[in-house]
Amino acid sequence: MTKINFKVTPEVETKIERALRKSGDFETGGILIGKKIEDKSFEIVDVSVSDEDNKYSITSFIRGIKKSDMLLRKHYKRKSGYYIGEWHSHPKFSLSPSCQDIATMIGILADDNYGVTFNILMITKMNNNKLDYQGYFFHKNLNEIIVLERSEM
Ligand SMILES: [Zn+2]
Repeated sequence: MTKINFKVTPEVETKIERALRKSGDFETGGILIGKKIEDKSFEIVDVSVSDEDNKYSITSFIRGIKKSDMLLRKHYKRKSGYYIGEWHSHPKFSLSPSCQDIATMIGILADDNYGVTFNILMITKMNNNKLDYQGYFFHKNLNEIIVLERSEM
């Protein structure tokens, strides 16, 4: 099986942890901004917390577009990263993607507005008061979802 690594910067971890603490039992999330650092290695350099539309519950989260677009534009200008996927929390569930999560990611791969051949889904939660997360890699030409290996910074 293919091994793919992903790194999450400490700043991103802090940003996510803060969002999770704020949203409590409700799901929250946004987009992942990142870059490829080696052939099979990605780095997440920033995330949006796209809760501006207030579309979240204990079991679902629909991200807003405004904050994500603004953040994307900022990184595009600085050439510091690009759209690389989605993240959201599962405060009450495991870090496994739901059927809806998988359908969303496959939908993005098929959507020409995104124009991406791969994307990463990161699912997060607070575990014993500490941030925990798992990354999943989706590719247009792959019939499987690859669980990403976490590499330390
Ligand atoms: Zn989910």
